Amino acid sequence: MQAVFALWDRMEDGLASGLLTPFFTSLGIVKYMGDPAEMAQFFMVNAIQIAIIGFLFRPLETILPQERWASRKLTRIDLFYTLLKEFGLVPLFTFALLLPASNWLGDKLGLSGGDTTLIENWIPWFKDKPLLLFVLYFAIFDLTQYVIHRLQHAVPWWWALHSLHHSQRQVSCWTDDRNHMLDDVLEAVIVGSVGLIIGVPAGQYALLILMGRLIENFSHANVRVRFGPVIDKVLVDPLFHRLHHMRADPHDAVNYNCNFALVLPLWDILFRTALYGEAPRPCGVDDPDIDADNERSWLGQQIAGFQRFFRALRSSFLREPPRSLSPDAAGRSE
Ligand SMILES: [Zn+2]
Ligand SMILES: [Zn+2]
Repeated sequence: MQAVFALWDRMEDGLASGLLTPFFTSLGIVKYMGDPAEMAQFFMVNAIQIAIIGFLFRPLETILPQERWASRKLTRIDLFYTLLKEFGLVPLFTFALLLPASNWLGDKLGLSGGDTTLIENWIPWFKDKPLLLFVLYFAIFDLTQYVIHRLQHAVPWWWALHSLHHSQRQVSCWTDDRNHMLDDVLEAVIVGSVGLIIGVPAGQYALLILMGRLIENFSHANVRVRFGPVIDKVLVDPLFHRLHHMRADPHDAVNYNCNFALVLPLWDILFRTALYGEAPRPCGVDDPDIDADNERSWLGQQIAGFQRFFRALRSSFLREPPRSLSPDAAGRSE
């Protein structure tokens, strides 16, 4: 085991001093980019994530497919989303923007630098129980993401962005990262702020995010794998999330809005949005304008997402004024 850690350290060092530092120096941005060792670790963790998807989840889709596809044409763009996000946009955003901003904010608000975190201060019982504390952090993050996900479906301008994720008809192990950039940024800022407020240590934060993402990648995989009637109440399995992606049935408006949890189905069970015991249905959306994403390039999807977003914003501001401002609102009883 020690040899593995030593090898990990050597690789991290080599990547940081041999590649990243000279690269950022040549661009003249080295002083804005934070700790190169942290960044190297980040890239290596992402590489492990991609390797697990590519060498484990992807072959499983061939061996045990849920849906049989003549070609995987539509999934290719999702692979591009994953590579672009994990090796390009996320590191850039995290190290050039989010980390410096959160360090600055943490210093200003006095949230960082202490020996104990907010939860340890509130409930000292957690102080000598690091594993339980880790589970609690995980649950708080997952609940935050459940709430975000409910809003992504309920708020018109947010659905305008999130619908890009749902436009995919061939939901696969690469689909988790198929999101609008603005949607990703919003989610990262909210989840990052929660992490900052509850005071998750940086190393644990990376592990929390990685664990959550691997489970989310697997839950999107096109595999006939079931966790069984007990474990599927504890962890989101591929059928659970596939039901969230099912195309709306005009005769069944209730079942469509289900299974929002990303990792722990507990939230859907508690808030009565869980759907079990249903056979998988085809994935996608019934709105032709959103479904047209399947014919668009990455840039085309991002632009179409922005157009839907501004249309939704405009109609919520112009066509539906708040009730108090609407002269005839008081007399209506619909
Ligand atoms: Zn959704
Ligand atoms: Zn999804």
